[in-house]
Amino acid sequence: MVELVEYRNLIGGELRQAASGQFLDAVNPATGEVFARVPAGEGADVDAAVAAARTAFPAWSALTADQRAAYLRKVAALFTEYGDELGRLETVDNGRIVRENVPRNGPGMTAMWTLAASQTLEAATGQTVVLGPNRLGLTRREPYGVIAAIIPWNAPISMLSAKAAFALAAGNTVVVKPAEQASVSVLRLGELLADVLPPGVLNIVSGLGRDAGEHLVRHPGISKITMTGSSETGRAIQRAAADTLTPSIFELGGKSPNIIFADADLEAAANGATVTSVFTGNAGQVCVAGSRILVQRPILAEMLGRIRAIAEKVVLGDPLDPATTMGPIISRAQYDRVVGYLETGAKEAELVFGGRHGAEVVPSLPGGYWVEPTLFLSEDNSPRICQEEIFGPVAVVIPFDTDDEALAIANDSRYGLAAGVWTRDLARVHRFLRDLDSGNVWVNIYRQTGQELPFGGIKDSGYGHDRVLEFTREKSAVIAT
Ligand code: NAD
Repeated sequence: MVELVEYRNLIGGELRQAASGQFLDAVNPATGEVFARVPAGEGADVDAAVAAARTAFPAWSALTADQRAAYLRKVAALFTEYGDELGRLETVDNGRIVRENVPRNGPGMTAMWTLAASQTLEAATGQTVVLGPNRLGLTRREPYGVIAAIIPWNAPISMLSAKAAFALAAGNTVVVKPAEQASVSVLRLGELLADVLPPGVLNIVSGLGRDAGEHLVRHPGISKITMTGSSETGRAIQRAAADTLTPSIFELGGKSPNIIFADADLEAAANGATVTSVFTGNAGQVCVAGSRILVQRPILAEMLGRIRAIAEKVVLGDPLDPATTMGPIISRAQYDRVVGYLETGAKEAELVFGGRHGAEVVPSLPGGYWVEPTLFLSEDNSPRICQEEIFGPVAVVIPFDTDDEALAIANDSRYGLAAGVWTRDLARVHRFLRDLDSGNVWVNIYRQTGQELPFGGIKDSGYGHDRVLEFTREKSAVIAT
């Protein structure tokens, strides 16, 4: 039997097994095989991590902006050195193609931590206000304390970084709970961080959401929660946080529309609405997947043809192969869910192409969780495949005639995370920017985010942004002069 690599939690600068000594299996979604074991952290591990973060907080928050920035730049340098290893490991763990994971976890994370390093001063900067001849008002920006960061499996290291880099820049300490489906890359990053950050500044506890996750968000030692994941879990965390009145940031699910008008650059629109969005990379398992493609009726037949041609070029298979453009679904459970939607979709809409799943899609890796790019056509927005987040490579085209109709369909959703608008009409662009119920709008481009911009949703897609100032709270003072 092959000896499995066993990873450790990072608590107070030490790499530790779960207090119970128990592990969870890490499964490679391209093979269905267990390749490593991660700690099954529970209450005792979370208590230790929160205690370590609280102990580290006074010294970390007392550092000058410059001193904290120096630490964050050291973390940034880790990704230059280890980005390739971390990207590959993450690909084995979550199935996202290596072509995306290596640049993302290499130069992408170096850039993100460098940006966070450049914002430490902003996080320490308040205002002074002259209130009158003998009154001076001022505000102080202060870190909250210990931040709980609950992250999903689809982009573990970048989700950890988007939260922790900015929380640390503001002077907080952090406890991270990675998703049980993909914790390995984050735990490996923990091994590297142990040598770079002071003990307790960043702690990582792997374990189940209902054990380690639930204990962490209920912990009285936590001062703010930032969570990315499903709307259902977001709601559960908000309820849990009510008892301690702990403020939260939630980045949740989506059912994002790409709205393609007849005057658009149709090739760019077809690509933007599919390969940069719902079909490739992470097999549609991205929060901003443009899973609804709204197409103006005169170009409907042409767009269906273009999208089919693009889908035919998708190379589904081993995500470690640089030639692969789409990987597997994360887990057996998520695979079953997506297959369920393929069956529902076939009943409530017209199948345009795709629909095959399992070993017949990638015979060379029969144990993997494969679903091929699938497109449905629906005359209206009411079917479940138009309303519910599938989180797989499944999109639905919905035709429309007028601008008003497109807006109504786009906004007829419980979600409001992202939207794409494809048109050359400037007035229309501004109208849609104003009227779309969406936290992020892309125009003639899709899924290009920059950490410099706020990223977050509205409605069931959550609220708040993982930005440096949201990890600070303001205190105001009036001084008699
Ligand atoms: P999930 O909500 O099940 O899990 C997310 C995290 O929450 C995991 O770490 C999990 O262990 C933890 N968790 C689960 N129950 C918990 C509880 N009761 N208390 C505390 N923590 C708990 O989400 P998932 O299914 O793993 O991820 C997919 C979802 O994430 C999709 O809905 C997707 O849209 C969303 N997502 C959103 C964004 C975004 O930025 N908006 C990005 C990526 C993924």
